[in-house]
Amino acid sequence: MEFCKTCKNLLRVQKENENQFLFCRVCNTKTKLTEEITIETSNFVRNKEIVVINEGEQNPFPVTKIMCPKCNEIREAYWTMQQTRGGDEPPTRFYECKTCNWRWREYS
Ligand SMILES: [Zn+2]
Ligand SMILES: [Zn+2]
Repeated sequence: MEFCKTCKNLLRVQKENENQFLFCRVCNTKTKLTEEITIETSNFVRNKEIVVINEGEQNPFPVTKIMCPKCNEIREAYWTMQQTRGGDEPPTRFYECKTCNWRWREYS
């Protein structure tokens, strides 16, 4: 049961079209019921961590041309991007040289 924040009277649930309202008969205060649910949902999505899962064997990594620190030359390398756990930090790129299989990471 919900009570009116203004006059402390018992609120009634009122249905209008698709929306439900909590309605106070004393002071005519109307609170949309679905509104609170929507806010909770968007908070949940915002706080959700972005986790990138690589299924390497089924989806070959994209290839780029980049300076390989091991070969010391421009090589074709597989790369993948991963978001670190603290969402504020920029995602990290991981490279793997196609020629020498050297792996390294680079912050973008
Ligand atoms: Zn009221
Ligand atoms: Zn290399």
